[in-house]
Amino acid sequence: MSPQVQSTMPPVYCYQHAEKTACDLCRKGFEVRQKLTDTPLQACPECGAKLKKIITKVNVHTGLTSAGGHTLSEKNITQQGFTQYRKVGPGQYEKTAGKQGPDQFNAKDL
Ligand SMILES: [Zn+2]
Repeated sequence: MSPQVQSTMPPVYCYQHAEKTACDLCRKGFEVRQKLTDTPLQACPECGAKLKKIITKVNVHTGLTSAGGHTLSEKNITQQGFTQYRKVGPGQYEKTAGKQGPDQFNAKDL
C-alpha cells in the first residue's frame, strides 16, 4: 500500500574549519549525518571556529561498490583520525565514532 520502506542512508556532510585557527577536530575535518533539510553546522563543537561544508560524502576511500555501504565504517573512521557525529534531536548531535571532540554537543550552544 505504501511501500516507502527505503533504506536510504542520511547524507553525510563533512565539515572543516574556515578560519586560520583550528583544533585537532576541525583541522582534520569531521563528518555529520544529517538530513538535507537540517541547518548546516556553523561552528566547530570543540573550538568554535567557523566551519565550511566541504563535501557531501561519497565513497572515495574504499572503492567498494557495495550497495548502501557508501560511508566509512565507524572503525575505519576512528583509525583514520576522523570523528563522526549523528543528529539525535533538534540541534543535538552525539559522537558515533572517533576520538576527537566532545561526546555530544548542541548546535545552538556553538
Ligand atoms: Zn575546532
